[in-house]
Amino acid sequence: MLPPEHPVARCRALLRDVTPLQEDCGRLCGAACCRSLPGEETGMLLFPGEEACYEGRAGFRMKPTPAGTLLICGGVCDRGERPLACRMFPLLPLWRDGAVKVAVDARSRAVCPLAEMGLRGLREDFRAAVRRCGELLAEDDEQQTFLIRLTRTHDELRALRRELMPSPSEPSRHEGGDRLV
Ligand code: SF4
Ligand code: SF4
Repeated sequence: MLPPEHPVARCRALLRDVTPLQEDCGRLCGAACCRSLPGEETGMLLFPGEEACYEGRAGFRMKPTPAGTLLICGGVCDRGERPLACRMFPLLPLWRDGAVKVAVDARSRAVCPLAEMGLRGLREDFRAAVRRCGELLAEDDEQQTFLIRLTRTHDELRALRRELMPSPSEPSRHEGGDRLV
């Protein structure tokens, strides 16, 4: 377990009950973000230190990767067991120019029906909680470094997507700072 004062534990607590929509969005899509594609394993990157929540836990496996530790699950878990990345999905806090921005995760476009709605389509308290998580994480050097890496990956994916499918309206609907969250 993580001590409650750990930044990742504080973020997990912030997002324990707040969800993207008023209703259970998993009903819209059959929990698409938990399903693996045939031949693939479902995995989410853990935030630094979050490994402590899954050591020895049945139903989870951890795999070190150059990007960080990947948590591999069986596609079903108790709500209280969700890693922080799953709690924030389809949003992602970014660290840009010394400030936190909240964005629709570029990886969500392939699986999540909410991604096309943009930030304004999601509950305000959910957006605000993800933003607060970004602020809490950015106060810690190790977490901030991780946020910077996530931001770089997000930007690379977004650039690739724009190259393949140009969409001029994308930035204002899908990323915001104080204006939106
Ligand atoms: S894919 Fe999107 S809509 Fe479906 S459960 Fe995940 S976050 Fe909710
Ligand atoms: S850890 Fe839980 S919420 Fe996250 S993808 Fe796996 S089953 Fe879904």
